Amino acid sequence: MIKRKTALLVLSAALCAAPVSAQEDLRKIYSDAAAQWMDGRPEDAAGSLKYVVYRSSDQALNSAALLDLAALLAEAGKNSEALAYLTKGEILSPEDFYIQFEKGWNLLSLEKYQDARAAFEKAMTLTADQDLSNQARFALAIAEGELSGPAGAIDQLRSVYTRYPYLLSPTAQLISANFERLKKRPHAVNFIKDALSYDPRNIQAEIDLARLYDESDFFVPAWQTYYTLSDMDPEEPVFLEKVKKLSKYVEGKADDLLYWARMAWPAHKEPMPDEPGPRVKVGLYADKGGVPSLVKSFSFITSTDFDLVDTKLGLILSGKSGMQWTVAYDEMNRVYQIRDSMDSTAHTTNSSFRIVPKKGGVVLIKNPELPSAHGVNRGDKEIGGELLALVREKGGFWLINETPLETMVSPITASLSDGSKLQEQLKAIAVTVRTRLTRLARLSSHASGEYQLCDSYHCLPFPGLQAESAASAVAARDTRGETLTSGDSLAPADFHRACGGFTDSGVSDGGRPLPRMTPFNFYAYTLQGPPAGLLCLADDKTTSSDVYWTLLLDPRWIESRLNRNSKVGYIRALIPLARDSYGRIKALRVEGTAGATVLDGQDAIAFALGSGALRSTIFSIRPLYKGRNPVYFVVRGIGTGDGKGLCLLGAYGMAKTRGSKYHDILNHYFPLYKVKKTR
Ligand SMILES: [Zn+2]
Ligand SMILES: [Zn+2]
Repeated sequence: MIKRKTALLVLSAALCAAPVSAQEDLRKIYSDAAAQWMDGRPEDAAGSLKYVVYRSSDQALNSAALLDLAALLAEAGKNSEALAYLTKGEILSPEDFYIQFEKGWNLLSLEKYQDARAAFEKAMTLTADQDLSNQARFALAIAEGELSGPAGAIDQLRSVYTRYPYLLSPTAQLISANFERLKKRPHAVNFIKDALSYDPRNIQAEIDLARLYDESDFFVPAWQTYYTLSDMDPEEPVFLEKVKKLSKYVEGKADDLLYWARMAWPAHKEPMPDEPGPRVKVGLYADKGGVPSLVKSFSFITSTDFDLVDTKLGLILSGKSGMQWTVAYDEMNRVYQIRDSMDSTAHTTNSSFRIVPKKGGVVLIKNPELPSAHGVNRGDKEIGGELLALVREKGGFWLINETPLETMVSPITASLSDGSKLQEQLKAIAVTVRTRLTRLARLSSHASGEYQLCDSYHCLPFPGLQAESAASAVAARDTRGETLTSGDSLAPADFHRACGGFTDSGVSDGGRPLPRMTPFNFYAYTLQGPPAGLLCLADDKTTSSDVYWTLLLDPRWIESRLNRNSKVGYIRALIPLARDSYGRIKALRVEGTAGATVLDGQDAIAFALGSGALRSTIFSIRPLYKGRNPVYFVVRGIGTGDGKGLCLLGAYGMAKTRGSKYHDILNHYFPLYKVKKTR
């Protein structure tokens, strides 16, 4: 050592420092690569990583860079290149699970199934971690399907299916596909139904279910499923064509065979309490953009006697409670006909009119006919206050509910909490809902000035008063007048279903600690199921797709959605670009045979990958190829929703496992705001 130092000193002072600083530079280049990747420049990152791998003699640095590089290359569909680096990595760390696992996936895409099987089998011998060994077995099943056929694949898949809760939906999906190969269609139908019940947002399972129903001659369920799909994506020609073709098997009123709520009578028999506080106008049956659908006809029943008031002529008549009336646009005469329960015309008008129940009664809106609506819940809806039928030029009307804002708090709270009875969770949600509604009503974010709020996701979905439960009513009553404020300003009071670990503002729900963000570390993060103490993790782990989900997406449908507006051709790769510090993808590049396009933001990404059903943008993505084309993309994701504000399932977890009070829950998710009682 001393000898060497002396020798170096003799040579020159500059040379003496060179090896150390070169190594430091490589560490800097490595962390720059991570920054480039986070910033949305994966190719630059790959270039930097290649340089590090080429130059570095530091084993640890080298191994890390190799895995990152292999992850980026596999994501981009450069499997042979990825494999070359992994083989290098294998020499450095022959006992590394991830090297074998990654080798396996790249070999699958290169159709070297024997070698893939060997790599996955080896990987399984290198880990005791349940997440990792089940991920490896799941992948092994894919290799097995090619080598020993569908029965062999099903064997491996069953083992994952019965032991590991976090891959239930994609495993059921693959079992179904293998039963289809065995021509056992009834089994295929059952497993694809399971895939959908374990993850109701598994869009690929829904598409496969529709097709399997159709091929099994279950025409009405096939029609229902295609109808649901076309409601999510009204421009998909295959769905539209199927709905049209299959509708001949549907008897009776089509709307009644769908999932819209239908009610015989108002759920609220007693008058609603007289609520102080602000009154709001709510546009009903609104679409995603917050515009009410044009209504051609509807029926209604009031729980108390009502007045019918023509906005031009004044009071027209008083009607009895408990009778079903009908309002319809008469195309021939271009007038609106209001018929009583005996079906005789009670009033004909060209002006808007109001239905005003007396003494706090409710109005049940039944069977609304919305001919041009898509993606709108057309269920029957009970409302408080009064109902305005506002005449529109195109021969129909908008339904606008004028009501005390407070009447909406309880039913929205109930519907956001999946029927939970945990008071402290419900109270936390009720305060957040009240704050959000108050804020939205003030913002007036709709083009029309006829209403301040709408009942779709554009504002907050309002299912109608019938959705409220006894528990949600108590929670709303006990927090009446309470909102989240900071000084004089209201909190934005956003919601999401499950953060999966951390909310957008960095609140921890007991998630797995985030790794230092590099391409491989983040990918490996998505291979691990949720940690046991996670607040938003369901008690029943088989229903955990809200916090941990995996999709196998057939590129065909993504192509169809994208090629409507941009020229992509057949998709070759989906490349995540910039990510935020929690891994949320901000933009995604689609590379196709005819061109490339960049999807910016959560909505564009969620539409392209899942017709809007995609749960969140915290995900890794891997193509699995056969020949030159991906057969599907493996998307492994965390959480449901955008992570902003209150984690609904986390609030449940806090109330249930920690016994937290609603003030604590609100303080946890909204540390900058205080609960204030305003009336
Ligand atoms: Zn709205
Ligand atoms: Zn959470």
